[in-house]
Amino acid sequence: MSPFKPSFANRTAHVNPSVIREILKVVSQPDIISFAGGMPAQDLFPFAELEAAAKAAFKSPAHALKALQYGPSEGYQPLREAIAAQLTAEGIDLAGNQILITTGSQQGIMMVAHAFLDPGDTVVVGNPTFLGALQAFGGFEAKFLTVPLDAGGMKMDALARILEHHTPKFIYAIPTFQNPTGLSLQDDRRVELYELARTHGVPVLEDDPYGDLYFGPTRPRAIKSFDHEGGVILLRTFSKVLAPGLRVAYAVVPDAIMNKLLPLKQGNDLHTSAFAQMMVAEFLATGRLEAHLAHLRAEYARRRDLMLAAMDAHFPAWCQWTRPEGGLFIWVTLPNGVLAAPLLEEAVSRQKVAFIPGSAFYPHGGGENTLRLNFSNASEEQIQEGIKRLGAVIRAAAPQLERV
Ligand code: PMP
Repeated sequence: MSPFKPSFANRTAHVNPSVIREILKVVSQPDIISFAGGMPAQDLFPFAELEAAAKAAFKSPAHALKALQYGPSEGYQPLREAIAAQLTAEGIDLAGNQILITTGSQQGIMMVAHAFLDPGDTVVVGNPTFLGALQAFGGFEAKFLTVPLDAGGMKMDALARILEHHTPKFIYAIPTFQNPTGLSLQDDRRVELYELARTHGVPVLEDDPYGDLYFGPTRPRAIKSFDHEGGVILLRTFSKVLAPGLRVAYAVVPDAIMNKLLPLKQGNDLHTSAFAQMMVAEFLATGRLEAHLAHLRAEYARRRDLMLAAMDAHFPAWCQWTRPEGGLFIWVTLPNGVLAAPLLEEAVSRQKVAFIPGSAFYPHGGGENTLRLNFSNASEEQIQEGIKRLGAVIRAAAPQLERV
C-alpha cells in the first residue's frame, strides 16, 4: 500500500471522464463503423500544404528560432494579424478587443470557466449542449440554467425568463451548427440573444468551431458581430478546418476580460505551441484557406446528403432527425421510451456500428431517447452500410411501433 494519500480538491468530485471518450475507446476497433466521434474527415486533411507549412516555419534561422523558443502568451503576432484581417473582413469590430491564441477552443472554454466561476455560480447553456463545456464548467462547480432548443436553436422566451430570475455569470452559446444537434440559432434570435444579454449585463461566450463549414451560400452571422460594447467572447478553432492535432484556436476577447484571461493562460501553458501557430500562419499566408474550405464544404455537404438519404431509406418513419445546414452532426429523436443507451450496446455488439447516446449532452438528465450521428468522418460505403445496420437495430428496438 502506498504511504501517499492524495487529498483532492472538492471540485474534483464534479469531474467525470467524458462518456464520449469512453465510448470512443470501445468503438475504435477497425471493424466498427463509427458515427460516434466529433472528428473532422481525416482523408481531407491538407497533408501536403501542412507539410509545406511545417517546412516554412523553418525557412530561415530567425523563423526556426521563433518556432523553437518560448513565445508571447497572446500568440504568434503574424497569426494574430492574419486572424484580425479575416474577422474585420467578416464585419467583426475589433476595437476594444484582443485576439488570444489558445490551445484548442477547449482551452478558451476552460479559461473563461476559470476566470468567471466560483462554486455555485450559474451558467446558461443550451439543453442539450457540448459535453466538453459541461465538463469545464462543472469542474468549477457551476450550476446550469438550461435553455431548451427548437428547430431555430435556443428558445429566446425561455432565456428571457431565466435572465429575469437569475444572475448567471455568462451565457454559453454554440449558435452555428451546434454540437450535438447540428441546429443553428435563427437570425432574429441572434439579435435577440445579444439584446437580452446586453439588457441584463450578462456576457456571452460564443463558441463557434463549425461556422466555416456551412453548406448554404454564406456563413451565418456571428453574435460577436453585433457587439461594440465588450459583451461577447468569441471562440474559434482551426481544429475542424485544418486539423485538431495542431491544437491551434483563438479567442476574441474584450480588453477588460483579457486582463483576467492572459494571466490564466500563462498559469496554464505559458503559450500555445509556437511551432503549431507558425504552421497555421504559413498555411494562411499561402492564401489557400478559402479553396480548402470550399472543398471541405462541398465534401461535407455530400456526406450529409448521403447520410440523410440513407436515413430516409432505412430509418423507421417513427424517428425524427435534424437536417443540418453545416457542421458535422445529425441529431436523432426516437419515440419516448425507446432508449439510446441499450440501442448502442446492441448496435456495437451485433451490428458493429456506433453513435453517441444524446443523454451525455444534457446537464440535468433527459434526452435518453436521442442520439448523435457524425457524418463527416465516414466513407460513402460506411455511411450506406452503417445507416442500414443502424436502421435495423432501431426497428428491432420497438417492434410494437413497427406493426402500427
Ligand atoms: N466547442 C465545441 C462546440 C466543440 O464541438 C469542440 C470540439 N468537439 C470544441 C469546442 C473543442 O475544439 P478544439 O479544442 O479542438 O478547438
